[in-house]
Amino acid sequence: MDKSLRAGIFICMTPDCDILIVGGGLNGPALALALAKGGMRVVVADARSADARAIRGFDGRAYALALASVRVLQAIDIWPVLDQAAQPIQGIRVSQGRAGQGAFPLTLGFDHAEIEEGPMGRMVEDRHLYAAFLEAMRNEPLITLKSGVRVVAQDTQGALQAHVTLDTGEEISTRLIVGCDGRDSAVAQRAGIRRWGWDYGQTALVCAVTHEKPHEGIAHQLFLPAGPLAILPLPGNRSSVVWSERTDIAAAIAALDADGWLDHLRPRFGSFLGQIGLEGARFTYPLRLSVAEDFIAPRLALVGDAAHGVHPIAGQGLNLGLRDVAALAEVLIEAARRGEDIASPLVLDRYQQWRRFDVMKMALGMDAVNRLFSNESGLLAAVRGLGMGAVNAVPMLRRLMIREAAGLNAAQPRMMQGLPI
Ligand SMILES: Cc1cc2nc3c(=O)[nH]c(=O)nc-3n(C[C@H](O)[C@H](O)[C@H](O)COP(=O)(O)OP(=O)(O)OC[C@H]3O[C@@H](n4cnc5c(N)ncnc54)[C@H](O)[C@@H]3O)c2cc1C
Repeated sequence: MDKSLRAGIFICMTPDCDILIVGGGLNGPALALALAKGGMRVVVADARSADARAIRGFDGRAYALALASVRVLQAIDIWPVLDQAAQPIQGIRVSQGRAGQGAFPLTLGFDHAEIEEGPMGRMVEDRHLYAAFLEAMRNEPLITLKSGVRVVAQDTQGALQAHVTLDTGEEISTRLIVGCDGRDSAVAQRAGIRRWGWDYGQTALVCAVTHEKPHEGIAHQLFLPAGPLAILPLPGNRSSVVWSERTDIAAAIAALDADGWLDHLRPRFGSFLGQIGLEGARFTYPLRLSVAEDFIAPRLALVGDAAHGVHPIAGQGLNLGLRDVAALAEVLIEAARRGEDIASPLVLDRYQQWRRFDVMKMALGMDAVNRLFSNESGLLAAVRGLGMGAVNAVPMLRRLMIREAAGLNAAQPRMMQGLPI
């Protein structure tokens, strides 16, 4: 249909939904549920089949969710089903070392007892998180989930509405399109939004391990010359491992069988948890920094990895995305209550202003930490060790860093403060 004719017809019509979310990974469902709580009609279109994803057993993927992110999941009412399956993070140990030599002394340690809010975060397995999102979306009458369908085109030129086209040929009209379609966001590309960033030349090797000794809820971040190794506690004597290596080395390790993979992991992991074995599948993720120059465009906003892909040091990716979710939901719901057009440039700019600084701070912070630690320099190793020792000796600084890890320092959206919108 001719665009001007279509725009003219749509002006007189109520759109099919208030918000169309492209992408039903993790941030898409969280945003849909938050908006529906505010009375908005939402369509979520996801290229992956929801049922196929939901029936998988434990596949080795898990997320470290900061306390502030847990509050978002509480606000959208999915926390009760996740709580029993989540592992509280009681403490964090940060150290540097070399494969085969264990951690060097002067380790930096954080304990949840140093803040009054309780555990600084929870580990949640992907299978439980996605299943909880799916069930909640299916029980929410204001959400229509279209799974196994790809958005192939979008038109944001209309004065009052935008619309998208699915690969089935179906067209859906909406007030606002939100791209939650991950790092290679086609929504952003179609809107002409450019990205900046760089390749780290590192690949993350991800798996879960079983071990002999209990982890006591402690998360370990060990900085090795080739890249960081995170050991994150899961329920039982199990941990999630995110281990970054130079891309050529990672490719060689990924090509090995399970025993070969473990032979490379053991000297890096160390023996502090006794014997280790693999559980679930193994994954590799090439690492690059990729941040959208704009988080908004006419009748369009970007959320989660579609807006920013950061280094997985400190497991902040999903936490940043959930902060976008909480901020955008608050901006849109408040605008709707005031009778504003939720997709007006003024309203969308509130979201962009709120989120851009925090994202830049985190993206560049993770980048700097990775550069500082991922190298062989003996001098830098000594400086890093002294720096960690110094932070460890100052309780106020430690407390500040614990609050940062728990996501309690940034200008918090209401959902992250445990308040209703
Ligand atoms: C190794 C590694 C470890 C990590 N560990 C942590 C951690 O411990 N804690 C943490 O907070 N974060 C972590 N992260 C980051 C976290 O995994 C991501 O930030 C998060 O998964 C992003 O979710 P998303 O919903 O934005 O995007 P995605 O999960 O990528 O979802 C995008 C969705 O969009 C859909 N889609 C794409 N194109 C289309 C289209 N055209 N039409 C319809 N649908 C489409 C896809 O099917 C997909 O379902 C880690 C990341 C890596 C790489």
